[in-house]
Amino acid sequence: MTAAQTLRNADLRHTNGREEVLNLFLDADHALSHSDIENGLGPDHDRVTIYRTLRTFVDKGLLHKVLDDGGNPKYALCRDTCASGHHHHEHVHFKCDNCGQTTCLDQVHIPAVALPEGYNRKEMNLLIQGVCLECNK
Ligand SMILES: [Zn+2]
Ligand SMILES: [Zn+2]
Ligand SMILES: [Zn+2]
Repeated sequence: MTAAQTLRNADLRHTNGREEVLNLFLDADHALSHSDIENGLGPDHDRVTIYRTLRTFVDKGLLHKVLDDGGNPKYALCRDTCASGHHHHEHVHFKCDNCGQTTCLDQVHIPAVALPEGYNRKEMNLLIQGVCLECNK
């Protein structure tokens, strides 16, 4: 699916900025940080607009936040299971100590965790750190 189609499906008005941000994610096979996105777009893009675009994409179920041990959030594309206001994620994120890239392991699910009574789960994040496939080659 192209960026333009994805925007249309999400009922988002098409802007060049939105399309370019989305294309960065479609081309990447790993999660992107704010600085990855700013560097990927070039200097003619306004930081505030980029942040706003990211927030919109998260709200619309196109991107999800990926927690990072460095404290800077990263973002990754969602699969079709996500919709506006509803994210369904059970996959593990893997951060490579060598190349620093964080990847969605869509096929690896977070194991069921039983919480004590009185605790309600809203979301779960699992970040595994190690050496990725590319760096192991
Ligand atoms: Zn999602
Ligand atoms: Zn790596
Ligand atoms: Zn993910």
